[in-house]
Amino acid sequence: FNETDYRPTRAIIDTTAVKHNVQRVISYLPNKTKLIAVVKSDGYGHGAVQISNAALEAGAEMLAVATPDEAITLRKHHHAVDILVMGPSPISFAKVAAEQGIMLTITSAAWVKQVNDQPQFDKKCKVHVKIDSGMGRIGVRTESELTNLTELINQSDHLSIEGTFTHFARADEKDAEPTRLQFKRFTQLVDCFPKKPRLVHASNSAATLMFPEYALDAVRFGVSLYGIAPSAAVEKKLPFVLEKAMSIETELAYVKKLPAGEQISYGGTYETEEDEWIGTLPIGYADGLKRSLEGQEVLIGGRRVPIVGTICMDQCMIKLPYEYPEGEKVILIGRQGDEEITIEEWAGRLGTIPYEIAVTFSARIPRVYR
Ligand code: PLP
Repeated sequence: FNETDYRPTRAIIDTTAVKHNVQRVISYLPNKTKLIAVVKSDGYGHGAVQISNAALEAGAEMLAVATPDEAITLRKHHHAVDILVMGPSPISFAKVAAEQGIMLTITSAAWVKQVNDQPQFDKKCKVHVKIDSGMGRIGVRTESELTNLTELINQSDHLSIEGTFTHFARADEKDAEPTRLQFKRFTQLVDCFPKKPRLVHASNSAATLMFPEYALDAVRFGVSLYGIAPSAAVEKKLPFVLEKAMSIETELAYVKKLPAGEQISYGGTYETEEDEWIGTLPIGYADGLKRSLEGQEVLIGGRRVPIVGTICMDQCMIKLPYEYPEGEKVILIGRQGDEEITIEEWAGRLGTIPYEIAVTFSARIPRVYR
């Protein structure tokens, strides 16, 4: 038996939606531009292995993750595809990365010197030089830093330059100016390489969709791979429809009728005003249904009903319009009839961005792939 068969609370992941998003973006971009599928943080909570399978099948040519461990996991499943670690890696990882054909992001001369001091590797480790054009996170900012770094790498028996990239901080905003400035600073520094690296890339999802003229050799397409718009500003101007890959469903575990004046859940934050049908759902904050989502609506029978009372660790209650049978399907994220509840709606209620919601669904929610 499979333990997840006994959990009606599930994330349904639509890999066809991911393939659609990949195919649409590829046809929107110039022919020479490669699509790098960003599958960090377990594919933004959708499952890195399954999402990379779908993305590669649909035409993505490379994968990107944030950390060394994520790259090692993917390498076990994808033996040949290029994988880039976009964040910093410890010096001790360089040799393993070389052996496993994992590309690393380089930002510091001190890091390169320490790698160069190690005993010879069997194979060189391919690296991408990170340029900080305005994000203020990691990367070289000046011509002299860049020249110093490229000279050290070019003399290295351990490392070879494969690419260079930058990351936009504000491509999801209405104002294009900050992104234009970052692109200008980036291209000015790219011109300082003694030899142009094979892969020059800048764009995240927002820039890919809003500034196709910045596509260069590749784009690093993350959140929109999963059908999520990076921001409301981008959502209004999408060049094509994105299909959402994740829905969260459960079913009514228990149904009861309460008279007026009965309190629901910890702290008694909700009190029935009349005879009310109350349903209990087997999902709580340990699954990613944050306590502060009290009042958020869910879908049952194609209509919106609210979560009432404090959300517990493993369960929560909803107010039903009338009696529903136990086992009735309930949608927390996704579509039912004419209604839809999106990750963006939760993000708006919680005062955060959809990215944070996508990665908060815990491992306890089984991912079911369709
Ligand atoms: N590139 C880098 C360096 C990132 O950190 C990220 C994610 O934040 C991405 C690309 C993908 O960004 P998005 O999910 O907005 O497409």
